[in-house]
Amino acid sequence: MPVGIDQESCRKRLEERLAVIDAARKARRQESQPVELDQARLGRLSRMDALQQQAMSQAAARLEELERQRIQAALDRIKTGEYGYCVICGEEIAGGRLRVDPSVAACITCARRAEAK
Ligand SMILES: [Zn+2]
Repeated sequence: MPVGIDQESCRKRLEERLAVIDAARKARRQESQPVELDQARLGRLSRMDALQQQAMSQAAARLEELERQRIQAALDRIKTGEYGYCVICGEEIAGGRLRVDPSVAACITCARRAEAK
């Protein structure tokens, strides 16, 4: 564990974020069902609205799923003691970077390199 990182508070933040995402997923699942069932009764415009809304919530769901995987991976790294180290080069990830987003998996150097590709 790199010095200067409060792993316990990182874990707490990750778990809280995971709970928020799971609650949102659950709410969306309940929301998206009536839209499909009601489609036959909807007029053309409202059907387009419903489809657009569905596409938007599907896009949001995809982003959330990615974040969920990132958070889960970070929690796994806490368990295995690899948390706080870059998954690419193995160097310590700066504490400030983890405070901004406790789920980051790469150090700033590797993250920049990946972005530049
Ligand atoms: Zn790195």
